[in-house]
Amino acid sequence: MSRFWTDKIASLDPYVPGEQPQDKKYIKLNTNESPYSPSPKALEAMELEVSERLRLYPDPNCETLKEALAKSYQLNVNQVFVGNGSDEVLALAFMGYFAGGKPLAFADITYSFYKVYAGLYSIEPKLVPLSDDFDIIPADYENLDVSGVVITNPNAPTGKALPLSEIEAILKANPDVMVLVDEAYVDFGAQSAVSLINQYPNLLVVQTLSKSRALAGIRVGYALGHPDLIEGLERLKNSFNSYPIDRIALAGATAAVEDEAYLKEICDKTIATREQSVKDLESLGFNIIPSATNFVFVTHPGKDAEKIYLALKEQGILVRFFGSNKPRIGNYLRITIGTDEEMAALTAALKTL
Ligand SMILES: *Cc1c(COP(=O)(O)O)cnc(C)c1O
Repeated sequence: MSRFWTDKIASLDPYVPGEQPQDKKYIKLNTNESPYSPSPKALEAMELEVSERLRLYPDPNCETLKEALAKSYQLNVNQVFVGNGSDEVLALAFMGYFAGGKPLAFADITYSFYKVYAGLYSIEPKLVPLSDDFDIIPADYENLDVSGVVITNPNAPTGKALPLSEIEAILKANPDVMVLVDEAYVDFGAQSAVSLINQYPNLLVVQTLSKSRALAGIRVGYALGHPDLIEGLERLKNSFNSYPIDRIALAGATAAVEDEAYLKEICDKTIATREQSVKDLESLGFNIIPSATNFVFVTHPGKDAEKIYLALKEQGILVRFFGSNKPRIGNYLRITIGTDEEMAALTAALKTL
């Protein structure tokens, strides 16, 4: 607290990322990072950039990356926006499209950063409860008097995916506001809403290179949507920071997006490991929500999640525990899918408990 703080600073309730402890080497299954290295082509492109071009500003329009994304998703370049991680894309989208006075609809259990952005821009959240089985119910998004809708698909931290027809129902029910679909985990087995972009001018799809493309460290995310929505984001970005994507990130991200074979290879590996992990955890008595992501959300009917979390940490394995005070999910753990070896170590540690 400082006497120089404005009321705004004092009122904020900032996001708390998953712990990144430096005291020893953990098996990190707590922040949904990929256990695999990024595309070798991305590493090569970044090395070249470091050795030759860092004295120059990066391209403020990120043309090469936008072209690679447009090609990959069969869109036009003017339907692509890129930002410093999808968190920045979300922050700009909230500021530009949802800070209009009316409340913003999103699920009661979802990515906790939405509430933080809502606080930052003085947006009132309209929390729409998930069903008892943690499903998003499209009918609950009809006849809302809101500034917009945010759907995370697959949802986090539950891991559950919504079929495309249900996303479409939500778009149809909200033609006069923007519907943002956060697809951070879509490559691990859900249907993307990108195919609906040319039909629905109110749709903005947000994705990231942090999870499926194993590039959390370079901070690149993007939005796909109608050119007018994208232009709005560009206006905001160019009123705040012309160069949010540095040269290393731009080179690495472009090469990673072009390397579709590698993306498929590491996603397939994660999906196979996830299916095995589900079996192993079920045999230990855990209840597991069906996951279309690179994590599983689990609870044990006879054991306390916080105790499991602490005991695993003691054994050098980090998983995500959101707090026993969290409504509905206080006895759940979110476990990132690591390599086969890491998951075997997890199962072995859990057996000793
Ligand atoms: C990880 C995550 C993000 C943020 O990703 P970055 O691109 O690393 O900022 C956004 N939304 C959801 C749901 C996520 O899980």
